Amino acid sequence: MKYSQYIDGEFCGGTGEEELAVVSPATGQEIGRYQAASQNDIAQAIDCAHRAFGSWRKTSATQRSELLRKVANEMRLDRDLLSRQITAELGKPLYEAQKEVDVAAEMFEWAAEEARRLYGRLIPARAPGIQQFAQLEPYGVVAGFSGWNAPAITPSRKISAALAAGCTIVLKPSEETIGVALLIAQAIERAGLPRGTVNMVFGDPASIADQLCTSPMVSMITFTGGTDVGKQLGAKAALHMKKATLELGGHAPVVIWNDVDIDKVAAACVATKYRNAGQVCTSPTRFLIQKDIFDAFCERFVTHAQTVRVMDPLESQAQMGPLKNQRRLNAIDGLVRNAVESGATLLAGGSAIEGPGYFYKPTVLALQDQTADVCRIEPFGPVALMIPVETADEAIAEANALPFGLAAYAFTNNMKLAYRFANEIQSGVVCVNELQASLPETPFGGYKDSGLGSEGGVEGLREFLRVKCVRQGGLV
Ligand code: NAD
Repeated sequence: MKYSQYIDGEFCGGTGEEELAVVSPATGQEIGRYQAASQNDIAQAIDCAHRAFGSWRKTSATQRSELLRKVANEMRLDRDLLSRQITAELGKPLYEAQKEVDVAAEMFEWAAEEARRLYGRLIPARAPGIQQFAQLEPYGVVAGFSGWNAPAITPSRKISAALAAGCTIVLKPSEETIGVALLIAQAIERAGLPRGTVNMVFGDPASIADQLCTSPMVSMITFTGGTDVGKQLGAKAALHMKKATLELGGHAPVVIWNDVDIDKVAAACVATKYRNAGQVCTSPTRFLIQKDIFDAFCERFVTHAQTVRVMDPLESQAQMGPLKNQRRLNAIDGLVRNAVESGATLLAGGSAIEGPGYFYKPTVLALQDQTADVCRIEPFGPVALMIPVETADEAIAEANALPFGLAAYAFTNNMKLAYRFANEIQSGVVCVNELQASLPETPFGGYKDSGLGSEGGVEGLREFLRVKCVRQGGLV
């Protein structure tokens, strides 16, 4: 398969020097190639997004809404194709990939609905004959960057919100999941979005980011990925006076109190932990378990973890596929080894699975202290850390101990404690007795090093709009 770029409504080959490969994580074999974008390609993408903004910003909210709804419909028609592409490029089991396509289409639908409700505000004037209001205006050309771990949801969320607000976008999806991004571009093309409103470029991430973040024609950056890269792009955006939203890494704590149904909670946590092989920014990772039930909870968690079926993600029985690439496999293996050397007890898994592809066993580690690297570094893989805590104060302190604050979870039947966990854990999302951290209609964003700004919900759309104050009087 030869992948293209998507610039000004054309699926065209890149004109950069390098030809690069896309690899299947389940086999380690090449499944596609693409010619990298050159500086000229990027300049063209920025140029036509800028041109398209001139008319897109004037397109009525009702019309924008209709077009976005059509994209959702087109994506649903391609559900099978898109989900198979996600599974081929990312290694997520097919049923999970189908769910991802459903949610990605919903992102467009939700943005279509909300596009018509982006209201400004009329401000009471101090004198008669004066009208003053805060009106919302789209930022302009947005530069988007998305990772590989949610290859349909993340691009869909950024594109749909940008378009709903009246912005146009140049998106650089992950080079590891190009085929998924291009299928979304095809749905956009079939829906009849005007040329240049959405562009996708692939190539050398750092140089593309540099060109996009320094262009005077780009007004906003929206990035999803690791904290280190996010900080670099955020600094660049600030230097060039561009608005930035940054959705970065996490290391989610999960407080488990001694009054819960241990088996039920363990089963639900296992299902969420090993979803997408743990390669989810909101993946529950640090289980802070009340001491009285520590052994019992670990036992149930391990029992459920050992039943997770790890296999070729195209198999209908598969519950967990491979990690995305050799780099992730090495990182996970290194963190697990380091933890064991630092005194952690390996309760389950702990090694790669023999054979082709990047498969790793669902892994559970029990920790008596926090000296291992994995206690500080986001594992972004199928590793659960079991940590005993005695008091609610200790659980909250541990939950807040890291510089991350993206998602957090707490399980208890005690209302007072539930209230404390929800209010005192420093995290953009806190789920109490529940594990769904993000939906199209709810705001999602990080505290501390996990990011800036929101995606999703009205708050997420609002990020793509700036406020202008207009005052009208009667002097002439
Ligand atoms: P990454 O930071 O390596 O890549 C993300 C995007 O940035 C990709 O498009 C990539 O090509 C690009 N990129 C990489 N290096 C770059 C550079 N030097 N300059 C500019 N762009 C560059 O992240 P990843 O490995 O794809 O994803 C894993 C990380 O993303 C994890 O930390 C995870 O928690 C985080 N993540 C966060 C969210 C969220 O919403 N907060 C969602 C998914 C993933």
